[in-house]
Amino acid sequence: MYLYNSATRKKEEFQTHTPGRVEMYTCGPTVYHFAHIGNLRSYVMEDVLEKFLRWSGYDVDRVMNITDVGHLSSDADTGEDKMLKGARREHKTVMEIAQYYTDAFFADCAKLNIKIPDVVQPATGLIPEFITMVQGLLDKGYAYVAGGNVYFDTSKLSRYYIFNEHDEEDLAVGVREGVEEDGNKRNKADFVLWFTKSKFEDQALKWDSPWGVGYPGWHIECSAISLKYNGEYLDLHCGGIDNAFPHHTNEIAQSESYLGHPWCKQWFHVHHLVTPEGKMSKSKGEFLTVSLLEEKGYDPLAYRFFCLQSHYRKALVFTWENLDNAQGAYNKLIARIAALTPGGGEVDQAVLQAQREKFAKAMGNDLNTSLGVTALYDALKVKANDETKLAILADLDRVLSLSLLEKAAAKREADAKAKESSAASGGITVTGEGDPAIDALVLQRAQAKKAKNFAEADRIRDELKAQGIEVVDTKDGAVWRRV
Ligand code: AMP
Ligand code: ZN
Repeated sequence: MYLYNSATRKKEEFQTHTPGRVEMYTCGPTVYHFAHIGNLRSYVMEDVLEKFLRWSGYDVDRVMNITDVGHLSSDADTGEDKMLKGARREHKTVMEIAQYYTDAFFADCAKLNIKIPDVVQPATGLIPEFITMVQGLLDKGYAYVAGGNVYFDTSKLSRYYIFNEHDEEDLAVGVREGVEEDGNKRNKADFVLWFTKSKFEDQALKWDSPWGVGYPGWHIECSAISLKYNGEYLDLHCGGIDNAFPHHTNEIAQSESYLGHPWCKQWFHVHHLVTPEGKMSKSKGEFLTVSLLEEKGYDPLAYRFFCLQSHYRKALVFTWENLDNAQGAYNKLIARIAALTPGGGEVDQAVLQAQREKFAKAMGNDLNTSLGVTALYDALKVKANDETKLAILADLDRVLSLSLLEKAAAKREADAKAKESSAASGGITVTGEGDPAIDALVLQRAQAKKAKNFAEADRIRDELKAQGIEVVDTKDGAVWRRV
């Protein structure tokens, strides 16, 4: 497989430290609010990457953290602790907030068919390991204590900026936000490994450490969690593009200084989901969630389909119109699969293999998921029986996870039921918003109309209208909706 590596800015052949095995790490959510669909774009694409690697025969060990401490409102160690902010907003404790939004995150993942990583580690559960790493960095001379905090000394590195050439002025983020610059830092790029002198008197979570009671910086958690579960050599590290700097840059600084050898080979960054107004942000408090999509009548898997239709290294513009198009295309694809009629024939293994190879080539070229989706349409067009088509679709869906066969089976069943009830009601079909009492009334009206009993039909129409129901007679039967 060829993947673009943000660290070298090149597409490279994917290689692992141990042949056949991928040690994979993903930066998890900061659980002070719901995940927005932008965050979830990153997790969808990382999920497809993991599944494609498994499908290709790799054994994958995937680790993810949950950030429940240490992430300040600016990624450059200034501002307020995001968790504390969330707790105050909702009049709850930090741990209550963390649990609630961790559960909400995994509920969203389930709706989007995102697999839970093999290891999920909340940061607050591994404080002793963070302390060991910080102590190791101090012992090796890569860190210093100043003003009560422990800092990483970036001047000790021959190369700090890995992903881009940064101007040191870019780091004065705190100044822009009106927060005072940290005078304890020896170099502007230095970052906090352990806070003891918190600016926030009411910091809820504190632990004892050799440097006093305090809490870890945000970056140390990913270095230490990955070291514990992935080992000393990481093959693949994932995250959204905003994580590249300073978060991933700082992870590399910590891990390589601590270990004394190169750490992670391959860096996979998903570009942002944006709205025409700009970037979607949790901290602004106004954002789109999976629940909101559902409330508006969209299938969360149509959003997954939408994500797969474009490349992970391009910004993706979200509009309702774009989502409508994705939902329409997804429904049509399901309908085409539902129309397949397997009759107990044999799967043509040669055709299946040829389609697998085509899919592997598309996805193996820097995870080209839009061509991966095209392979589904190709499967419907191959010269083979329906058993073979279904076998190809099932196989590719192990990677794309669009629940294609399950949704097609559900559609077949729903269509059969609709046909049955249409036959039972003298060939009249009623479709609506899923309320049997209203269905029955609409059916009575249609039957009255058919029997030319127009007075009765009008009476029922008025009754429905009084309940806020509108009925439209179409060539496919009576369709009702709430207005
Ligand atoms: P957070 O919960 O803020 O720590 O972010 C969780 C993940 O979502 C990280 O990998 C971020 O880089 C990623 N992310 C944040 N905003 C977006 C966005 N608009 N589009 C795609 N990914 C994002
Ligand atoms: Zn991380």
